[in-house]
Amino acid sequence: MEERIVSSRVRPEDDQQLEFGLRPQSLVEFIGQEKIKEKLGIYITAAQGRSEPLDHVLLYGPPGLGKTTLAHIIAGEMGVNIRITAGPAIERPGDLAAILTNLGHGDVLFIDEIHRLSRTVEEILYPAMEDFALDIIIGKGPGARSLRLDLPPFTLIGATVRAGALTSPLRDRFGIVDRLEFYTIEELIRIITRSAQLLNVAIEPEGARAVAGASRGTPRVANRLLKRVRDYAQVRADNVVSGDAAREALLMLQLDRLGLDEIDRRLLRTMIEKYEGGPVGLETLAASISEEPETLEDVYEPYLMKLGLLKRTPRGRVVTREAYRLLKLKGGDNPQLSLW
Ligand code: ADP
Repeated sequence: MEERIVSSRVRPEDDQQLEFGLRPQSLVEFIGQEKIKEKLGIYITAAQGRSEPLDHVLLYGPPGLGKTTLAHIIAGEMGVNIRITAGPAIERPGDLAAILTNLGHGDVLFIDEIHRLSRTVEEILYPAMEDFALDIIIGKGPGARSLRLDLPPFTLIGATVRAGALTSPLRDRFGIVDRLEFYTIEELIRIITRSAQLLNVAIEPEGARAVAGASRGTPRVANRLLKRVRDYAQVRADNVVSGDAAREALLMLQLDRLGLDEIDRRLLRTMIEKYEGGPVGLETLAASISEEPETLEDVYEPYLMKLGLLKRTPRGRVVTREAYRLLKLKGGDNPQLSLW
């Protein structure tokens, strides 16, 4: 299925070159996530003072919030190389062994979607993370011997949508575990203004605010929307992203001011009209918008929950009164009305 314009996951048009250009290069340039930045800054300085690699880092949270960017920044600040891979790309234990033995002293190994590593691959990681060692088995059957190879000290940075998706032996081996939060509107405005400067786009404060509001708390979406709004301004608004130009461009993409699209609205409307507001099971809900349950849970629900439109309960998902209000449906303005 084609990714939505507001998808926080990478879309084909997210030109890697451009993404790279927009990516902040240092902790100082990185906007938002203040608590994480402060902690990382201290840990990095301390590790450097001891001439040791940084402890292993696990970053979790919805896609597009800056996990990969932070991994690059950490490597940059530590002055080491970064090697990038992803859980599903490491098929056999041998693949991971090859990556590990090729790391330089203190290097960063970034594994995106680390929860998708296979169990046998994961087991190679345990001694590697704990003792910087690789246990390999030579031969087969009764004559098989185990050999321990030393690895250079390194920092593993893992990224995942949910820390809970990791097995606990893996999770326990990370010394630094941090959750990235959705960005505030003010932070997104700063990100959009910075990107506009880098892309040479003239944007007015009202334009930046409109794009920020529709960015679903996510810098990746903010940058993507900025590019579409820029196109619109170029053709229809004298090259300036004013508030009106931004709103018209977003409307053309069928986004409302909160960045909700037709699929979000269909999801909420289905819950209200077909299931009386819920509770509805995750599988049923996912089927109603033709999405995988995991995608719904990890990519779309977090933002709807953040807006307070949807709640998770032990019996299923329920919509809130806010959702009725948003869709201008009956019941939205009656605080006495109990929906479930
Ligand atoms: P993740 O790895 O969490 O999916 P990325 O690190 O790939 O997210 O970030 C997506 C894009 O958003 C990057 O290309 C970067 O340009 C932008 N971005 C992320 N975080 C920030 C930030 N704090 N400030 C500015 N731009 C950011």
